[in-house]
Formats: sequence, structure tokens, C-alpha cells
Amino acid sequence: MQNGHKCKATAITCIDFRFVTKIASFLDGKGLNNNYDLITIPGASLNLDKSMESINTSIKLHEPDEIYVFDHEDCGAYGENNSRENHTSNLVKAKKILSAIYPLMKIKTYMAHFNLMEEVG
Ligand SMILES: [Zn+2]
Repeated sequence: MQNGHKCKATAITCIDFRFVTKIASFLDGKGLNNNYDLITIPGASLNLDKSMESINTSIKLHEPDEIYVFDHEDCGAYGENNSRENHTSNLVKAKKILSAIYPLMKIKTYMAHFNLMEEVG
């Protein structure tokens, strides 16, 4: 593997086009511009199990220090059960699962709203 091929973070987001720029701007604001691997999966925390292989690959290849998970309001993948409680519960669960697998990494979970970004869990 090439040296210096490390990034600061891995970000897991929903595919939803309405939140792509919002989330990228938020991560830029955290000093992560062009410095994170991006994994997209419908529903984000809802389908964390389906993205584990990609997360593993990102961590193995690029040795990030942090993992960000972003759910968002009005998520089609959540369908009928798009409640705040359901998002919060899945984000908390995602944080627990990721912390157990990657105990040395900082795991940050967020709920993206149309007008603000909220840390959850
Ligand atoms: Zn979504």
C-alpha cells in the first residue's frame, strides 16, 4: 500500500440527493474536505449491516480516526416509520455496534434536517 494514503474519517450517509451538499458542507466545516471516504446506503443507520463490508474496507485501506453516520429527516428508506424515535434508536444502535468493532475510533452520529445538523446519540 502507498504511504500517506490515509484519510481522517469515514462517512456513512443515505443516498438522498437532497442531503448530499448539506452533508458535504457540514463535513467541510469539520475540516474534512477531501479527507473522508464516503459510503452511501439507503437509510444509513437503518441498513448499517449492509454497509459493514464497505466500512471495513475503508478502515483497512485508509485508517481513518472517526466514523460519521448521518440519518436524515423525511427519509424514503424509512418509509412509514420515519419517526424521530426510530432514527434515534437506530443511530444509537449503530454507534454501539461500530464502537464494539472499532473501539479506538470516534463514532459520531447525526440527524440531518433540512435546516440544521443535529448530533444524536
Ligand atoms: Zn434517506
